[in-house]
Amino acid sequence: MSTITENKVVSIHYTLKNDAGEVLDSSHGSEPLVYLHGAGNVVLGLEKALEGKSIGDSVSAIVSPDEGYGERSGPPPQPVPKAAFGPAPVLHPGMAIVAEDQQGNQMPLWIVAVEDAQVLVDHNHPLAGETLHFDAEVVDIREATEQELAHGHVHAHGHDH
Ligand code: ZN
Repeated sequence: MSTITENKVVSIHYTLKNDAGEVLDSSHGSEPLVYLHGAGNVVLGLEKALEGKSIGDSVSAIVSPDEGYGERSGPPPQPVPKAAFGPAPVLHPGMAIVAEDQQGNQMPLWIVAVEDAQVLVDHNHPLAGETLHFDAEVVDIREATEQELAHGHVHAHGHDH
């Protein structure tokens, strides 16, 4: 019987709620989430809860920020002129973007708010500082391919290279 260990490709259906019980995200009604176990594709607290589980098992995990998206840190969200995003950009709150500094280092940023002339961006993940409540069910477990292991992510649903 196959169980979830490092380097297995795992499919789960899940619902993610915050402390207030509001649903933040869910795979139900669409394809299950497929991820490479042990590669940091999902937050650490969820990986730990799923470790050793089998197909058909359900887990509930309460994940603190240190095993989730981290504590909020650093400066508050910063304004960036909308023009910096190019002509007629499609921007919405919660959207992830990648910024590049003058040395060419890439850093992930998230859009907090879109105003007339400027966009507020934050280096904190939108769920930073949140305690995450996951309910997950294991749908499938398989061995990863060598290429998936080399890349550190799953090749599925048209992602192939
Ligand atoms: Zn790849």
